[in-house]
Amino acid sequence: MLLRLTFALLVAQLGVSAAIAQGTDRAAGPLRIAIDIGHTPGTPGAMSAAGEMEYTFNRRVARLIADDLRQQPGVSVTLINEPGREISLLGRGDVANTAKADLFLSVHHDSVNERYKSTRRTADGRVARYSDRFRGYSVFFSEKNAEPAASLEFAKQLGRAMREQGMTPTAHHAEKIPGEGRDFVVPETGVYRFNDLLVLKRARMPAALLECGVIVHPEEEQELNTPERQRQIVAAVRSAVVNMSTWFAARRQ
Ligand SMILES: [Zn+2]
Repeated sequence: MLLRLTFALLVAQLGVSAAIAQGTDRAAGPLRIAIDIGHTPGTPGAMSAAGEMEYTFNRRVARLIADDLRQQPGVSVTLINEPGREISLLGRGDVANTAKADLFLSVHHDSVNERYKSTRRTADGRVARYSDRFRGYSVFFSEKNAEPAASLEFAKQLGRAMREQGMTPTAHHAEKIPGEGRDFVVPETGVYRFNDLLVLKRARMPAALLECGVIVHPEEEQELNTPERQRQIVAAVRSAVVNMSTWFAARRQ
């Protein structure tokens, strides 16, 4: 969920596989990736259709992404704010900057505008808001990042990889209503421009933010809780990271 991003974000540090590093000027060291767990236990982001907090989804899949990337030769990972302390958006970017990360990825799960939500009781009696109007993933980048061209490339690679894993993007952030209206740069793969996302602006390396899916959509929430969907997300991030290593190498030649 993007609306509260001003108040919450995380960072991670990564490395690169030997295969990834070969042929690049990073061959002497790992490719470092910072994985940011969106939100915190205290400011947990959106509430799902079943009454679960976005932070829980973000932490789970960010850990899976980090574990997977750490198994790739030549990749190192910094997982930002794994202990779940309060941290500012700028602080998250600072962690990635201090780690001298080569890539930054902020991991989130999505909501929709309140106008599209209805109210229901969860299984344990709590009140939750839901909507079955929109579902799917989104990828955001900022042209105000220090590496705008590489950030767009990372967002494109990630959007394409998510699609190739069988997931579908959502267009709802492009709707011309307050809180949305983002520039839909690559609609077929879910890539949006969002220049003022603080966490992406602060990072001094190519950066993107992934909304893995819409957790206020009851069916998509259930899917996001399955190992299969989580495996698809992890595989997509791995593919995008490998492709960015190749892209970095080509840029240097
Ligand atoms: Zn969020």
